[in-house]
Amino acid sequence: MACREPAGAPQRGFEHHGFRKVPGARCAQVELELRSRKGQNARLVPLNFDPQWSRRRWLRLSALALFGSVAARSLPALAATPGQLITHGPTSQKRIALTFDDGPGPETPKFLALLEKHRIHATFFLLGELVVLRGATVKKTVQAGHEVASHTYSHINYKAHYKAVLAKISARGGKASEAEALAKQDLIADMRKTQAVIEKASGKKVTYCRMPNGIDRPWVRSAAKEVGHTLVNWTYGADWNSGSASTLLPGYLGALRPGAILLMHDGGSHRAKTLTIAEAVIKAAREKGLEMVTLSQLLKGA
Ligand SMILES: [Zn+2]
Repeated sequence: MACREPAGAPQRGFEHHGFRKVPGARCAQVELELRSRKGQNARLVPLNFDPQWSRRRWLRLSALALFGSVAARSLPALAATPGQLITHGPTSQKRIALTFDDGPGPETPKFLALLEKHRIHATFFLLGELVVLRGATVKKTVQAGHEVASHTYSHINYKAHYKAVLAKISARGGKASEAEALAKQDLIADMRKTQAVIEKASGKKVTYCRMPNGIDRPWVRSAAKEVGHTLVNWTYGADWNSGSASTLLPGYLGALRPGAILLMHDGGSHRAKTLTIAEAVIKAAREKGLEMVTLSQLLKGA
């Protein structure tokens, strides 16, 4: 019997509302993801499901989904819930978060200087293997009042990793659920290792993790939940694309809205383009009256 993933009718007040099959559940259960339009409230609701159900039962399921949507609306603002994915903060306050990935790199001090010059704090998603190399930079980052978070140990593309594991498992007649379980275990070990080195170097607890390439899968969320990480992607980011700073800047400026989580990269070398974009973004955000804060501050609304 083929698994179907029926799309739920969009509910008023929700930008994303649909059914997702739970991996390995053999079509027996789906998780209904409810997310408010403001993005800060998200909840996965497990519902039993059988593709052979009658129209009447489907209607009942839809009614349950609607009830869940209404319930999700009344959720408190999401600060840091392990296993959930955040892509932007509350839109009710004129605040945004600047986030920097792939460091600490040789040019990270330039970003720290820029942020200091403008007296703002940002969040740095660090790679464990670089934290080990540049512990002093991590210390300076937290001493300057910035937040540090995990970007995994060595930037493995877990989408590709899962495919490779699946190919091995399939070759010996195994199921996709086994591959997911194995990939999840690898990710959990990776997250824990990264968390340990960041906490040792910074003296700060790691709450947030951004997956390399922003990969989002149920098993990724499940791994994050086990480790105690809230997953964070981004509202907008483009500095890794080709093109000059002036070509890429309009995209960032267009994304300057309350609650935005902007992604840039301090890691790697030749970051002059990103530095130019970052300074222009900071100035434009100030002009718009948008306060730039760390992720924790953005999500707590504090
Ligand atoms: Zn990255």
